[in-house]
Amino acid sequence: MKKKLLLLEELQEIDTAIDLTRAEQAVHQAAITGLEAGVATLHGALADEQARLAAIEQMKRELEIALQAEQDNIRRSEGNMKEIRTNKEFQAVGREIAMARKQAAELEEQILQKTAQLEELQGGINARTGELETLQATTDVDRRERQEAMDGLQGTVDTALEKRERIVKELPAGLVRRYAKLREQRRGQALAEARDGSCTGCNMQLPPQLYNTLFRGDELHACPHCQRILVLKQEQG
Ligand SMILES: [Zn+2]
Repeated sequence: MKKKLLLLEELQEIDTAIDLTRAEQAVHQAAITGLEAGVATLHGALADEQARLAAIEQMKRELEIALQAEQDNIRRSEGNMKEIRTNKEFQAVGREIAMARKQAAELEEQILQKTAQLEELQGGINARTGELETLQATTDVDRRERQEAMDGLQGTVDTALEKRERIVKELPAGLVRRYAKLREQRRGQALAEARDGSCTGCNMQLPPQLYNTLFRGDELHACPHCQRILVLKQEQG
């Protein structure tokens, strides 16, 4: 029975180490996820700005087409003027030309506004692109380093799992199940040391009779309060 307890202690030690190593891996993984989210956010912002730029470019093109049409109208009306014979007609065409010129001037003003907007937006896009390149580069370096660290930790976990497998094979299946259930219920700690008459797992006092039987070490005993399997560390010498 003593041997089972020693094996359980070893199992607990290995499982605790595996939990810690996996927690370390999770920290790296969370950091990588965070870095990638940052890159994705910046990518999204850049894509939005590029879409706005494209939309404004399209509007500018439409304004330029409208301006071209207006200028063609003016030229045509000016050409027509030479063939006009009456004063009334002359005045009508003159009004048309004046209106077309006014319209063309407004379109030119709008085109200038779009040009200014495009320049400003392009400046923002250039800055954002640089920012993204820098972030991408540092993310790549950090991710690589963290991936290497995680791979190293995985090696540690794999070795521990092999060792664990050997120990589990030596223990009765029912005891391994009990141990696993306790670990699940007791925040990873299925075993607790009995010290100074108390269980160090839950800090409750143990019945004196139980405490005394622990000294014999010939049976597995559970704490009556937290059900953890009790281990008694005897002083050397
Ligand atoms: Zn306890």
